[in-house]
Amino acid sequence: MLPQTETTIATAGTIALVCPKCSKTLQVARDETDPVAAARIEVMCPDCSGGDFSMPEYFDAAGQQILDF
Ligand SMILES: [Zn+2]
Repeated sequence: MLPQTETTIATAGTIALVCPKCSKTLQVARDETDPVAAARIEVMCPDCSGGDFSMPEYFDAAGQQILDF
């Protein structure tokens, strides 16, 4: 049995962008400003935010919100 050391390593290249309101999910290219451990970004899509920018929230592969980055 190997120790689980890869749980925080997200799929390279893309990251899931999820709207917390309508659950619309988009696989997008990772931005270099995204936290390395981030596996999912929750941000309101344009339809739900009414055109306003909302603050993205980052989550790691375990579903824990990443607050310091
Ligand atoms: Zn939405």
